Amino acid sequence: MRFGIAGAGFSGAVIARDLAEAGHEAVVFESRDHIAGNCYTERDPETGVMLHKYGPHIFHTGDERVWEYVTRFGEMMPYNHRVRTTVGGRTYLLPVNLLTINQLFGTAMRPDEAREFIAEQADQSIEEPQNFEEQALKFMGRTLYDAFFHGYTRKQWGLPPTEIPASVLKRLPLRFSYEDSYFNHPHQAIPRDGYTAIVAGILDHPGIEVRLSTPYTAADRPQFDHSVWTGQLDAWFDHEFGRLRYRTLDFEEIRATGDYLGCSVMNFGDVDVPYTRIAEHKHFAPWEEHEDTVCFREYSRLAEDDDIPYYPIRMANDKTLLSKYVDAARAESGVTFVGRLGTYRYLDMDVTIGEALAAADGILEAIGSSRPIPSLFVDA
Ligand code: UDP
Repeated sequence: MRFGIAGAGFSGAVIARDLAEAGHEAVVFESRDHIAGNCYTERDPETGVMLHKYGPHIFHTGDERVWEYVTRFGEMMPYNHRVRTTVGGRTYLLPVNLLTINQLFGTAMRPDEAREFIAEQADQSIEEPQNFEEQALKFMGRTLYDAFFHGYTRKQWGLPPTEIPASVLKRLPLRFSYEDSYFNHPHQAIPRDGYTAIVAGILDHPGIEVRLSTPYTAADRPQFDHSVWTGQLDAWFDHEFGRLRYRTLDFEEIRATGDYLGCSVMNFGDVDVPYTRIAEHKHFAPWEEHEDTVCFREYSRLAEDDDIPYYPIRMANDKTLLSKYVDAARAESGVTFVGRLGTYRYLDMDVTIGEALAAADGILEAIGSSRPIPSLFVDA
């Protein structure tokens, strides 16, 4: 069969590869002039530093299938992500751990003491947290929440944390030990040659043709037996019911000599500091040495129609609109929706790859048993 695949990020590339390996033909249309979507990396010509052009991407997973898959296409270098945060003129460690707690409260508690102390701080009256703020108050109490989460979240989402889904907080652990690794997953790594090289490796198959700077349009569809759409879900339907909202990011470059931050990511929790964080990209490649440095301040705002979409907002009203598109997607035939934009979800890279592999399995199974190919494989 001949597949028209919209998008050359991880979702589109992984599906194209699996289909091509099964003997099908895949044409990947990419509206940008490069592959790898928002994971795109390139070397800065001035300093030689590998830049994550659309913001920091740290690969972490507990999914062995996904780990085996990415390591097939490039060398993954061990990288243990650690994040610091500056609030009220002081610097602390994230995610919130025993040192963060002891520093904030001026104490020297052991794990069981800290656990008991935080349980006293926590708002026990909240049974089913309905939003980000309630989730935080239930698990850590007001003092920790105000210091590290309220300001940052307000800036990142542009909304009061009472209007943000509780699920966003569940991304971050609260630790009663001095472990300050940002992620818990057994595999944490960054590709030695960048993500672009990994995606290029995935797309490098005789059954795959990549067309850069070429959006996939309705006029292209009849040439293919089936479409895979990894673009914005509502764009497939010409935004018929209205636009799904996203946060976008603006990056402000800082160039310096030596070490600017002393770490890869420094968050800024104060609401009156207009940016959310600064990333110093050479620290994402600790195996490299660079004399000069490049950092980016990140400013978050609501995406306008032509901005690059980053974070799906998924507030109650966005979800109402989403459900209309999900119904429309389920009723559609000849197309499969996948990925962060195609399913309007906040996805990490490993989940994106895992779902793309599962979608490709599903497509191949449907073909094998002569059943129609489902338009959605996940509960969006
Ligand atoms: N967050 C926060 N303070 C921080 C870091 C994160 O309040 O210092 C909240 C914020 O709402 C953010 C969410 O936790 O959107 C998830 O953070 P994560 O670091 O996973 O964000 P990402 O790196 O995906 O932007």
